[in-house]
Amino acid sequence: MKHIFGPVPSRRLGRSLGIDVIPPKTCTFDCLYCESGRTTHLTCGRREFVAPGIVLEQLEAFLHEHPRAVDALTLSAAGEPTLYAALGELLRAIKRRHAELPLVVISNGSLFWDPQVRRDLMAADLVMPSLDTVDPEVFAALNRPHPGLDLEQIIQGLTAFRRQFSATMVIEVLLVQGLNDSPEHLQRLRRVIDAIGPDRVDLNTVVRPPAVAGVRGLSGPEMEAAMRCFPEDRTRIIGSFTAPVVEQPDASAAMRVLRMIERRPCTEEEMASSLALPSAQLSATLAILERDGTVVRRGFGDSVYICLPRQS
Ligand code: SF4
Repeated sequence: MKHIFGPVPSRRLGRSLGIDVIPPKTCTFDCLYCESGRTTHLTCGRREFVAPGIVLEQLEAFLHEHPRAVDALTLSAAGEPTLYAALGELLRAIKRRHAELPLVVISNGSLFWDPQVRRDLMAADLVMPSLDTVDPEVFAALNRPHPGLDLEQIIQGLTAFRRQFSATMVIEVLLVQGLNDSPEHLQRLRRVIDAIGPDRVDLNTVVRPPAVAGVRGLSGPEMEAAMRCFPEDRTRIIGSFTAPVVEQPDASAAMRVLRMIERRPCTEEEMASSLALPSAQLSATLAILERDGTVVRRGFGDSVYICLPRQS
């Protein structure tokens, strides 16, 4: 398994080099909106899916070859990164070697009630857990958690983490039409988030093909209205990012396309801007991959996304 991917154009982090230590698709949740498709292994059991040394070796090789191509190192996965039992060891080792690069963990926050998970995360510079709802029924319908998880315990875990973690904590809320976007729900959510006390709240919505058909995101004006339920100075709607990422001349065009959509579907325009491939070459590559069924196109909103079959 390749554990380093990208750099991918991140809406928040610039050119983010992904570090993935979780086999797809292993997660504590099976969210309706997941961009990586359905969860095939729903679990709360932490495991060392790969030895930290193997991940470090791949990271060093990439940074040696592309020393100025990366703005941040991000533990993120088509799954939940805190399921990785050697997370603390890996984060500390990366920080020792690359203190100059922000070290980020994107998590669903579901295991923060575990003191060991909180200790593991202390080496990060930025931790971004999500919290989409404070209503157990919405939680069950939207995030479809492992049956061993309890929403109240998750909120207590996020609160305890905030007390311990002195670097930056951003809570991400993903809004889905008709599920967690009512003003009453947003006000309840805001009260809980205020009590947790993150540095910032990022509001996101469904912008790429979701795991379950029929799940809808909010429009721009609806996102603006939702934002007014949160503290103005500490809340933002996540924007788009299209800066070109590093060229990887070692990889074939098909391989670069597949690496880019491994974790989430992308439009052809995003690919063209990120992969720096001539448009004729990109179109020809996509045509071949479509013909043999390696990738498929899926319409969502006003865009058409290139997906792996498992994401469609
Ligand atoms: S969105 Fe995140 S938390 Fe939800 S199923 Fe996908 S990987 Fe897991």
